[in-house]
This record gives sequence, C-alpha cells and structure tokens, in this order.
Amino acid sequence: MYNLRIYLAMLVFGLWLLICSPASALTCDMSQYNISPVTGTKVDYGNTRWPVNTIQISDPFGSRYLAKNTSTGCYDYHRGLDLQGTEGDTVYSIAAGTVYIVQYECKKGALRCGFPNGGNVAVVEHPLTFKFNDKPYTKYYSVYLHLHNFDIGNNQKLKQGQPVVLGSPIGKLGRTGASYDHLHFEIRLGDINVTERIDPSVNPLYFLEEVHNVYRDTNNYTVCVSKSPLTVSFSSSNQELDFNEIEIQSAGETRKINFSTKEGIDLTQVDNSSPYGLVTINPADFKFGTPEYLIDFQFPGLDENFTRIFVRDIWGNGLEITPKSL
Ligand SMILES: [Zn+2]
Repeated sequence: MYNLRIYLAMLVFGLWLLICSPASALTCDMSQYNISPVTGTKVDYGNTRWPVNTIQISDPFGSRYLAKNTSTGCYDYHRGLDLQGTEGDTVYSIAAGTVYIVQYECKKGALRCGFPNGGNVAVVEHPLTFKFNDKPYTKYYSVYLHLHNFDIGNNQKLKQGQPVVLGSPIGKLGRTGASYDHLHFEIRLGDINVTERIDPSVNPLYFLEEVHNVYRDTNNYTVCVSKSPLTVSFSSSNQELDFNEIEIQSAGETRKINFSTKEGIDLTQVDNSSPYGLVTINPADFKFGTPEYLIDFQFPGLDENFTRIFVRDIWGNGLEITPKSL
C-alpha cells in the first residue's frame, strides 16, 4: 500500500512535469545564421501616467505560464499587466476620460459578471482619435481589476459617469478576486467587450511611458533557433516586457503570431492551453524580480529550412534572422 502511494505520487508528479514545463534558456549555436536589427516607429497615444506610483511588474502582457497546472491548464492568455503593490495604494486614472464601469465584486457563482474573478473593477473611457494596425479608433478603455475599494478621497467613492483627469484617484489597490495584492491593468481599444472572436486588449506598454528601472525600450533582445521541431526562443531583460510578434517564413508559407492584434492566435484556446492553432507558445514563469523574460515558439509541421524569421516588440523593433548562404 505504501509503495503504491509513492508510485501514485510519482506518477502524478511526472504527469505534472510532462504537462507543465516552462521555457528554459536555450544555449544554441547561431553561427549559421545572420542576425540583424529591424526598426519600427514609436507612436504617441497621448499624455498618460502609470496607474500606480510604485511600479513593480509581476506579470507581463501575453501568453503566460501559470506555474502550476490549474483546472484550466498550465497557461493562459494574460490580457493585461500585473503591478504588485500594497493594499490601500492609490490607483490613478492613466489619462483624462469618463468613468465607464464601476463594478463591485461579483458574488460567487453570479450568473452575470462582466469581469469574472476581477473583483472590484473600474473602467475609464478615454476619447482619442488614433490608428492601431491601420484601423481607426475614436476611444480606448483603461481597465483596473482587483481594487480593494473605490475610495477616491474626501469620503467620496468612484461613480459611473464621473469625469476624471489624468491622475484622478479611482480607488485603492487590493486583492479582490485575486490571490495577492496587485493591480491588473488593461488597455482595450474601441470596444470593452471580449468575445471568442474579438479581443480588444493590447499590451498596455503602448500607452505608458518609459520609466527608469521599470520599462526601458532598449531593444536588447536575444534569439535562439533550434530544430526538431523548429523552435524560436526569445528573451529580453525584465525591463523590456514589450515583446509582441513573431513572423516566420518557410517553404513559401508565412506564419505570424501577434499578441496585440491576436493574428495567428486561436481566441477560443487562449485561456486554457499552449497550442494556439499551428504554434505552441511556451512562456517561462515570470514574477517581479525575474531577471529575464523568456518565451519559446514551436512550429511543428513547418519546414525547418526557414528563409526568414522576425521577432518584434510593440513598436516594430526587433531582430531578423536569416540562414547564412552555403
Ligand atoms: Zn493580471
């Protein structure tokens, strides 16, 4: 009986390892490839500030490793930026606008809940005329989850329809609907609703300024290519969490995965598994203080003799990898 229990424990642990194995740093020989920088253009999305004063990113935007196998799997798609803090820290509106939603934490099992597990949620609508991925927009939304409360000072509470300016308090940081004190912060373009076909969330770093020791767009990226199956490993420092896109050209076929436009991502699978259609996205675990951001893309079934690979950040800066001609 005792042996059986040990055996079962080992089996369960083995399965866990099998299912949840995060990306690990690859050491690879890139001498057979040319690697050259590519540059894009930074876009100004208006005057903003970060939503908290002390900025500690505990989870970046995009495909995320969950560290343990939950009921939904080892991965999910993180639609925002997590900023860890202390309960009661003031949360600020990142720009001028109008309070669009004030949602108190939904009761467990509530049939209608706009933000399941979001806890206390505030949403601010910001009027802005801009283009994103060539599509015109007239507004965007900033979304603040897990708020401790909606206290905005002077015994006032945040109210729907209330106008705010850049830096208006909208509530206090907390852990409602979450397991630790942090602000889950999102930017959604044009529409607030997330459906299986449309996901308006983009990397919030498009809308936030570089901050010393927090977010620095230095374009210092490392890439590693290995085969069987064709795997592209990307890493950057923990201050450069704006990875956005991989494009691979092989045998006349182009595959592109873009975290913000969701091109190449199967929106029906983003919450529960690593295979996103024709690619397996395998991010490493990330917490505040993790020294580097690391993510693998595996392309099973794609001809390994690729002609070109691009990795790009949100601004289009990145690297181009081509095989050296024989
Ligand atoms: Zn989050």
